[in-house]
Amino acid sequence: MTSMVSGEQARRLEKAYGGKVMISEPMKKHTSFQIGGPADALVEPHDVEALRRVLQWAWSESLPVFVLGNGTNLLVADEGIRGIVVRVGPGLDGITFEGECVRAGTGVSLPALARECADHGLSGFEWAVGIPGSLGGALTMNAGAYSHTVGDVTREVRMVGLDGALSVKTGEEMQFAQRSSRLSHGDSIAYQALLALRPADPGSVRARMAEYMKDRKVKQPLHLPSAGCVFQNPSGRGAGRYIDAAGLKGLRVGGAEVSQVHANFIVNAGGATARDVLILMGVIRRTVYEKFGVDLVPEVRVVGG
Ligand SMILES: Cc1cc2nc3c(=O)[nH]c(=O)nc-3n(C[C@H](O)[C@H](O)[C@H](O)COP(=O)(O)OP(=O)(O)OC[C@H]3O[C@@H](n4cnc5c(N)ncnc54)[C@H](O)[C@@H]3O)c2cc1C
Repeated sequence: MTSMVSGEQARRLEKAYGGKVMISEPMKKHTSFQIGGPADALVEPHDVEALRRVLQWAWSESLPVFVLGNGTNLLVADEGIRGIVVRVGPGLDGITFEGECVRAGTGVSLPALARECADHGLSGFEWAVGIPGSLGGALTMNAGAYSHTVGDVTREVRMVGLDGALSVKTGEEMQFAQRSSRLSHGDSIAYQALLALRPADPGSVRARMAEYMKDRKVKQPLHLPSAGCVFQNPSGRGAGRYIDAAGLKGLRVGGAEVSQVHANFIVNAGGATARDVLILMGVIRRTVYEKFGVDLVPEVRVVGG
């Protein structure tokens, strides 16, 4: 695959935004699946102004931009990603409390944010403690668990357009839906959100978080790399139940395997490629459709190629 970013452009980008540019950076180092070929260039802006400078520079060079959070919902192609990958993480992860609300940078990890909220005696975010993504990824995916979603508590989101323009959207304007939001189009990067919670006893919030963690340890294959649930749950029944009932648990293509623990997880059992996972996803979809007439919709985002 030919890179879209030359060495000379990488040097200019470093100057333009005031940070490091990683060239041909293996995406398998940045995804929970531990799968994915090289990104032409990967940057980690240290604050909002640096983020804007990266976006304005890429815009002026007509280079495509992909936003990366913690990479826990992604299947990155073996060929990698062309253009600039912008990682929103440390530096954009500050947390401040405003009464019963928390204002957080979208680079913060959900478990860290959930624990901070508990320590401040705020309830409404404990369900997120076992989700390994960032707040930005959660706002994009409308992440959720145990009958809660991030959309339920989002009051406001601050974002930057690919041209560097700043904007603020209310929770309603975010268009939260099943595992999607207005950020799903990839034309804006969220850098901060205001979440509305409610006061509670920190001990009882922590106790609920401990229960959620215990539940995940029993029900999910946390000992192997994965990207969480591969398919969205069709209405009425979990996708995993269809996959299990179709007898697909343990089915393997190369290094990719339908988890024995949770049928809606594909695990990287060793050296899996994106191609292995895509073939396995195809087999699962076809088999479940033939047996139950249900067309499973992927939840994992397939990027690059
Ligand atoms: C073990 C395990 C358990 C999981 N359990 C759950 C669960 O219970 N519920 C659930 O909903 N999910 C779950 N997930 C999936 C995943 O953690 C969530 O979808 C999470 O919100 C993704 O966040 P991320 O930072 O990793 O996003 P990434 O995977 O990095 O990106 C996902 C999408 O968000 C976009 N994006 C990321 N950051 C930003 C930003 N700042 N601005 C704009 N766009 C952005 C990306 O471009 C991409 O399209 C699980 C995953 C694993 C591995």
